[in-house]
Amino acid sequence: MVGDGSDRLVAVRGARLVDVEAGKVLEGRGLLVRGERIEGPLDPGQSPPEGAEVVDLAGHTLLPGLIDCHTHLVGELQGSGIPAIDRSAAQEALSGVGNARATVLAGFTSVRDVGTFRAFVDVALRDAIRDGTVTGPRMAVAGAYVTVPGGGGAVTGLAPDIELPLDLRFGEAASPEEVRRRVRAILYGGADFIKVIATGAVLAPGTRPGAPELSEAELAAAVEEAAAQGTHVAAHAHGTRGIVNAARAGARSIEHGSLLDDEAADLLAERGTYLVADIYNGDYIADEGARQGWPAETLAKNEATTQAQRDGFARAVKAGVKIAYGTDSGVYPHGWNARQLPYMARHGMTTMAAIQSATVVAAELLGWEDRVGALAPGRLADVIAVPGDPLDDLELLADVPFVMQGGRILKGDPRDPRAPLSAGGPYFRA
Ligand SMILES: [Zn+2]
Repeated sequence: MVGDGSDRLVAVRGARLVDVEAGKVLEGRGLLVRGERIEGPLDPGQSPPEGAEVVDLAGHTLLPGLIDCHTHLVGELQGSGIPAIDRSAAQEALSGVGNARATVLAGFTSVRDVGTFRAFVDVALRDAIRDGTVTGPRMAVAGAYVTVPGGGGAVTGLAPDIELPLDLRFGEAASPEEVRRRVRAILYGGADFIKVIATGAVLAPGTRPGAPELSEAELAAAVEEAAAQGTHVAAHAHGTRGIVNAARAGARSIEHGSLLDDEAADLLAERGTYLVADIYNGDYIADEGARQGWPAETLAKNEATTQAQRDGFARAVKAGVKIAYGTDSGVYPHGWNARQLPYMARHGMTTMAAIQSATVVAAELLGWEDRVGALAPGRLADVIAVPGDPLDDLELLADVPFVMQGGRILKGDPRDPRAPLSAGGPYFRA
């Protein structure tokens, strides 16, 4: 597990602390950390208990480690070509090692990783992080995409008579019964939750983001099988019909939600369905795609969804939909995950609500609210710090100088300025 197994007491002091559960900033408040968990607060003016090591982050704001509910840590950055077919599963996994490290060192100490084209590479990465072999965020993983053949989660663009190996089509299903079988197999293979593809995708050639793919009956079959195994379904859905189908079928979250109208926003609010909308990366795709000369089809689909998605996001905020933070990292470079926070504040959220979406709300979506997401006694000591006050300037979170995960300082130990990366798995020890 993350953490070094000791139960030493550490007093973390800063200028202020963000209590994301109460939505308040507490001046002068610090934390006591014992081993891998938060023991309790350190009140302003209170001296650290005898024997405690002191980590003094003067002038900094302490926050819970951030959580991104929509990452793709496995593999290389997604470009305009056919994904995954020119790389082995081993290459995909080793790319994931670097991506995981970049993500946690950026202050994202947990992620919900929503899929890989090569089945179960994410399970291997999660387990290697869990046992300390790899430095990275705590991961909940999807295992594979449940998708219609030729759909947004399939490897498309090949001639129809080319047969893919099983791990590149593991989640393909063409009926409710097949969906059930695939869901069981994916969970049996070690996935933590299920990712279904309810509409076409921006980056999958030949699929249309607005078009529904898995039917409501197929989506409901996935939800029922996942629930039977005690877990949830995340539904990729750009188009309005797909969003409504997935919400009605009982998906726990809608991913992207690009063409969300008022009616769909009300449906999500009423059902308590989370919206995980990646409203930053459209700008990245437009810039990078034009620079690299991506196909006109991809760039046109991106343009059609970017502004619509931001408008839909503002609609959802207004309607009271639960918003969990998710960015689609892997489309843009890993470690830039916090760049979306200011976009959310520009589209209807307060800066506190944006931070809550990436902490306490994200933890609830994951079902991890007893472990992470707030600086509360008993939670795992996932703590980040930034200079100044991020509630005045969310951009500060794009450059996090201090990261503690499970009580272990991964970056920016103020007692050892020569070693900004002072801990980590055996790989990263000098
Ligand atoms: Zn995605």
